[in-house]
Amino acid sequence: MLKKIFVTALIFCVLTSVAFAADKKPKKSVWQPELLVGLFGNVTQVGLKVSAPCIMIDPASKKTLKKIPADKNFVVDFAQMKTAAVEIRPEKILLKDLHTTIDGRKYFGGVRVNKGKSSLTVINLAPVEEYLRGVVGEEMSPAYPLEALKAQAVAARSFAMKNRGRHEKDGYDICATTHCQVYEGFEDFDIVNKAVDETRGEVLTFKEKIADTNFHADSGGMTEAVADVWGTHISYLVPVKELLELTAPWTMKFSAKDFSSRFGDGFGDLKSIKLSKLTVGKGSGDRTSSGRVKSAQLVGTKKTLTVTGADLRRKFSLPSTLFDMKFSGGEVVFTGYGRGHGVGMSQQGAKSYAEKGWKYDKILMHYYSGTKLKKLY
Ligand SMILES: [Zn+2]
Repeated sequence: MLKKIFVTALIFCVLTSVAFAADKKPKKSVWQPELLVGLFGNVTQVGLKVSAPCIMIDPASKKTLKKIPADKNFVVDFAQMKTAAVEIRPEKILLKDLHTTIDGRKYFGGVRVNKGKSSLTVINLAPVEEYLRGVVGEEMSPAYPLEALKAQAVAARSFAMKNRGRHEKDGYDICATTHCQVYEGFEDFDIVNKAVDETRGEVLTFKEKIADTNFHADSGGMTEAVADVWGTHISYLVPVKELLELTAPWTMKFSAKDFSSRFGDGFGDLKSIKLSKLTVGKGSGDRTSSGRVKSAQLVGTKKTLTVTGADLRRKFSLPSTLFDMKFSGGEVVFTGYGRGHGVGMSQQGAKSYAEKGWKYDKILMHYYSGTKLKKLY
């Protein structure tokens, strides 16, 4: 039911954006969806500057409140705002060609300011393709090969389009942090721009709906089933092998005293650890099918605990759950591989496949097997 509502809402968003775009009569080829990206809140004023002449409108009535000249600093102030929100849009050029400086930082597109009970929420009004120019280089290194960056652009676009409205209660679509996708505004890397332009409008779909395109830094050798991380089975987020195994090795050591203390007084002192040996791609009772730690048994002087790999990762800030764990000489040593949750595309893996000559669509089909690449606009 919720899914139905969400899909209806998504279609509505797309249709209203189309209708709005139609009012403005842009060429069909330049149309793209707009995103409301929440930047920050809890302020009583925000300093702004636009790169071209703009109008300030009341988004509810669509009435123009005033004209804003280019390249002049101005302030939107809580005490002086008479409408529940204001939007600043270009007067003559397309939104994608406008840049807005918000509290000293440059962003693509315009701005929307929502007035709350006692403070303002500042939102970047960004066309999706421009937003991606800022996101792709934050989520993946611009030093990576073009085809890996193109795969990242499709994954990031799919995420943005699928999650429009995720922050509806906050008054915007998505936020600019790791909770959604990291976006720090204007960026201009040639290779990132190329990756975005060459995949314009493309998203991954599954059964006619936009797919979940989770990604992570490095799987360490094999990706993880989404069901083993977040509990829900998704047919295209299952373990796949990598070109390289045992990548991104890491070691972390803790004194037995420090280790034991993290499990509370009831645990006592650590006596032994029971965990099968890691083999990438081999599951067992205490490991998932990719080899990640499902659970480990910790024997203490007062109690024996069964702790999940995810809990261990959180408690000790481990880079991943693909690890071995040994207790000897008064020390607990974690030896692991990879970085991140392991679900979906491995960015390091995408890089190695791109270096091998794979195109972005082949890379995407490897990590999200069974999905389809679709051009939305
Ligand atoms: Zn968010």
